[in-house]
Amino acid sequence: MEAELSSPGAGVPTLPQPVRGDRVRPGGGSSFHSMWRELLPVGRHPDSRGYRRFAWTGADAECRDWFREQAEGRGLGYEVDRNGNQWAWLGDPAAGNAVVTGSHLDSVPDGGAFDGPLGVVSSFAALDELRARGAGFTRPLAIVNFGDEEGARFGLACVGSRLTAGHLTVEQAHRLTDGDGITLPQAMAAAGHDPDAIGPDPERLARIGAFVELHVEQGRALDLSGDQVGVASAIWPHGRWRFDFRGEANHAGTTRLVDRRDPMLSYAETVLAARREAELAGAVATFGKIAVEPNGVNAIPSLVRGWLDSRAADQATLDTVVGGIEKAAREYAEAHGIDLAVVRESFTPVVEFDHALRDELGRILGRDTGLTVPVLGTGAGHDAGILSGSIPTAMLFVRNPTGVSHSPAEFAAEDDCVAGVEALADVLEGLACA
Ligand SMILES: [Zn+2]
Repeated sequence: MEAELSSPGAGVPTLPQPVRGDRVRPGGGSSFHSMWRELLPVGRHPDSRGYRRFAWTGADAECRDWFREQAEGRGLGYEVDRNGNQWAWLGDPAAGNAVVTGSHLDSVPDGGAFDGPLGVVSSFAALDELRARGAGFTRPLAIVNFGDEEGARFGLACVGSRLTAGHLTVEQAHRLTDGDGITLPQAMAAAGHDPDAIGPDPERLARIGAFVELHVEQGRALDLSGDQVGVASAIWPHGRWRFDFRGEANHAGTTRLVDRRDPMLSYAETVLAARREAELAGAVATFGKIAVEPNGVNAIPSLVRGWLDSRAADQATLDTVVGGIEKAAREYAEAHGIDLAVVRESFTPVVEFDHALRDELGRILGRDTGLTVPVLGTGAGHDAGILSGSIPTAMLFVRNPTGVSHSPAEFAAEDDCVAGVEALADVLEGLACA
C-alpha cells in the first residue's frame, strides 16, 4: 500500500511539492505536509513499497541529512552525540531542564512510513506551529532522532538510547554484527561516526527535564474509541518462551496412529490453548516461529520446538496467561507420551511512564475541550521506554485505522497527523513556554 497521507492507497501527490531548505515555515499543519513528502521516497523499496532504512546505511544517511537540514533551516543548534543520535536545540542545552521531543527515522525490513518518522516530522512541525503562535520559551527545547531504534540490522532494538542510558555496554555494542558479518563499529566508522566514542551519556540525560515521543499507534484502540490522539500509560511486560516437545521419530506410512508419540499434536493443541488463554485475559500470545526435527514430509517428528511471544497489560495477567499455556501444554504432552521442556529465553518487565508527566499531558490536552484524553498501554518497545528509567518520559499516540505496524499497510490519515502535530504543540507549549 502506498503510504500517502490523503487516503490509504492514494497514488498521485495532490499537495504542492516543497522547496528543499525553504526557510518560510508557516504553521505546523502545512510544514508537516512539506516535510512528509520530502521524506516519503527515502529508502522505499520499489517492489515491496516498504521502507528499508537500516542503521548506518545509505538510506539512513539520507534521513540523517534531512534531519540536519531541518535543524539548520530553522536556525536550531545541531549536534550528533557520542552514540550517533541527532539533536536540534532551541535555547541553551546547558541551561538544563530541557523539554525534548522526537523519535526515530530508521525502519524494520519493509516497514511502514509512519513508525518513527511521524514523531520526528511532527516534532519539527510542532515547533513551527509554536513559532506561528508566537510562543515564548522558558525552557530549552530539543528535537531528537535516536539512532538504530528498530534494530533491523544488528538484531538489538533501541541501540542509540540504550547506549545513552547505559543499558548496553560498549563491549556488547562492539560485538553486534549484521547479516553480512559487518560489526557495528565497522558500520559506524564507514558512515563517518567514531565507534570508540560510544558509551553512556549521563551528562546529556541530566540536561533533560522531560521527553515526549509522538508515535503512530501500533494497534486499533484509538480507532475503536473514535479518538485521534491518546497518551501512553505503560509498555506492557513481555517475554519469549521456548517450548520443546520431544516424541519419537517414525515412518509416516507404516506407524499406526495408536503407536505414535507425535509431538506435533501436543504443539498444535498448545497453539490453540495460547490463543484461548490470551483471549480470556485480554492479552496477546503468539507462536510465530517453529523448528521441527527431522523436518521430513514422510516422518513423524522427534522434536517440535515452538517459540511463544506473550505480552499483557500487567505482570499478574502475563503470569496467568503463560502459566495457563504451560499447564495446558503439559496436559497435552502427557496425553500423547511427549516430554516437554519450557525455557524462558527473554523477559522485559512493565515500563510505567512517569505518572506526573502523563497526567500533565492529559490536563494540557483536555484544557480546551474538557474531554478526557484516552490513556493506552502498548505492547511495543520504544526509546521513551528505555529512557524512562533515567528521565521523566511520556508518549502520544496517533490513530492508525489499519492497526497494522511494521508493514507498508501502516497508516495514519491526514487529519489525524495534523491533530497529532497540534496536540504535540500544545504539550510542548504547556511544558516549555511561559
Ligand atoms: Zn517506532
